[in-house]
Amino acid sequence: MKPVALLAAVAAAALAMPADAQITPAPSRTQTEPVTVIHAGTLIAVPGEAPRRNASVVVQGRRILEVRDGFVDVAGARVVDLRSGTVMPGFIDMHVHLTGLDDRLQARLLETSRNTEDEAYTAMSNARKTLMAGFTTVRDLGGDAPAVRALRDAINAGQFGGPSVVMAARMVSVSGGHGDGRNGSNRDMAEIAHRDGGNLCNGPEDCRRATREQIGAGAEVIKFAATGGVLSNVAGGLAQQMMEDEMRSVVTTAQMFGRKVAAHAHGVDGINAALRAGVDSIEHGTFTDDQTFRLYRQTGAYYVPTLLAPAAAYRDGERGALTAAQFEKAGAARGNAEKTFARAIREGVKIAFGTDSAVSPHGQNAQEFALMVRNGMQPMAAIKAATVNAADLLGRSGQVGTIEAGKDADIVAVEGDPLGNIRLLENVGFVMKWGRVFKLGGQRQVTDVD
Ligand SMILES: [Zn+2]
Ligand SMILES: [Zn+2]
Repeated sequence: MKPVALLAAVAAAALAMPADAQITPAPSRTQTEPVTVIHAGTLIAVPGEAPRRNASVVVQGRRILEVRDGFVDVAGARVVDLRSGTVMPGFIDMHVHLTGLDDRLQARLLETSRNTEDEAYTAMSNARKTLMAGFTTVRDLGGDAPAVRALRDAINAGQFGGPSVVMAARMVSVSGGHGDGRNGSNRDMAEIAHRDGGNLCNGPEDCRRATREQIGAGAEVIKFAATGGVLSNVAGGLAQQMMEDEMRSVVTTAQMFGRKVAAHAHGVDGINAALRAGVDSIEHGTFTDDQTFRLYRQTGAYYVPTLLAPAAAYRDGERGALTAAQFEKAGAARGNAEKTFARAIREGVKIAFGTDSAVSPHGQNAQEFALMVRNGMQPMAAIKAATVNAADLLGRSGQVGTIEAGKDADIVAVEGDPLGNIRLLENVGFVMKWGRVFKLGGQRQVTDVD
């Protein structure tokens, strides 16, 4: 073979080999990966089912190996003693925004001086606070897409500790709608925002494009604005903004790419149109009628209540951190959110836990549990909403949401009985993510990824 032909043959062989192929086989998992045994006084392995007393969870590497009765010992394993506590699957928050400052006044002051790099560091800090609060998976429903994408990938690659992030890139919206960054801006700012407007669409054709652009930007779930929103700086209320044919176009395009769809929706007309268009979840879901609850039942869509958000937004307005247009909408949403939630419990709507953290401070996500229970939800149902139900809505029931063999070792614990006092969930003392102990005895731990 001539040298040139030989080179070509070698190159062809290299191309045919998978990128991660290795000459020598990797050592088997069982030889290398550390084993941890958690001794749980009370174990809520599958929220919704009766808790178990005195059980052990055996973790190897990233995954749960087995769950056994009694406090078992495994030779060479690290033992985590949680015999006085309640051990649960890591919590999942279906609605956060990790980029952006959660102090509205600071965010406004610094708006013109921050870049994607600044957003990435903010997101990293917010992600850590969220993990320390016991949330091992979050769905980021809109923000600086390159920053969130870098954050998600760095966490998955083990570069630093944080929750698993499922991202939506930017919120698809009509021009002038809740997701239009130009709203209320001066001409210079509006011009800059216009260049960044890939998320805006008008008409069904155009909404296909906007949806595809988000997928190109890393979206694993598509979020669109069905109605007005509290924090967009435009007057005009919380009613429907996107036409039903545009919503349908977003949903069918997303489904073609295997993505689920979340609709930001406050006003009843927008909620009902989004449900008819086939969305997987309604975010906020503030104003409803009888038809809304029929549609929830018919479609099986989830309701993600975000009860923390309207109260937090209103408090911001009271201290002068909102514009007049925002404050008026915050007032309209406040109060109705909790009434709707109470009715949804009575109507048997499927509910997944979500906070809209960024509107309320990151790391306080678990305060949502007490609001849910105060408005009629059983404590176990609230825990189920943040684990089993959220995993189902994510399409990740095979990996997260329960403590069962083969699933990711995402595990949290509190002292005492959260079924008797739901506010104990605001003080998570133990956090394990992918088998690594990030918090123990209420203290942050140093791990190999920090
Ligand atoms: Zn929203
Ligand atoms: Zn939101």
